[in-house]
Amino acid sequence: MKTNKTLYLGKELKQIRGKYFYLRKKLGKEKKLKQIIKIKNKEKRKINTLLHTVSKEIIINAYQNKSTIVIGKLKNFKKNKGRKFNRKISSFSYYKLTQYLEYKAREKGIPFIKVSEFNTSKTCSVCGTIGKRDKNWFKCTCGYEDNADRNASINIAKRGLSQELKLGVVASTQKSLNEEISTKSVQSCVIA
Ligand SMILES: [Zn+2]
Repeated sequence: MKTNKTLYLGKELKQIRGKYFYLRKKLGKEKKLKQIIKIKNKEKRKINTLLHTVSKEIIINAYQNKSTIVIGKLKNFKKNKGRKFNRKISSFSYYKLTQYLEYKAREKGIPFIKVSEFNTSKTCSVCGTIGKRDKNWFKCTCGYEDNADRNASINIAKRGLSQELKLGVVASTQKSLNEEISTKSVQSCVIA
């Protein structure tokens, strides 16, 4: 399986959040409440625009290359209240992005598959065994190492493609993936 471009969206989101966090803090000290609300809305719009731009890019790309879009299902999205604020925001952005993608994919007739993310971050996307994840880096005994989210996204893509081909193969047993999948190329988008 060839793996091409990976789009990392998290950095841009963090930049937007960081900028507005700083602005809100500053306005908070000056007790400018109206402006804080204004800025909060501006931040939301900026993130929304980014999500629309990115989803549009992915859709155009998928349409032109006759690709299938595979996304990892976000589990317990609404139950994650105890998590860190940042994490919650990116879960929410991810959720929104997947909604935009699904809607736009339907409109264009692009195959759209949702799969479970179970074990996708622990499994090696090359050999299929369980590897080691250290913060943002994934390492496997087969010699493969990569950005951990990228590795996980390739597993998600494989899982989706095997589902599409009705092979019933999961990421943890990738050794049995057939030729059809191994010749496909993957482009991924990481929002972490
Ligand atoms: Zn491996």
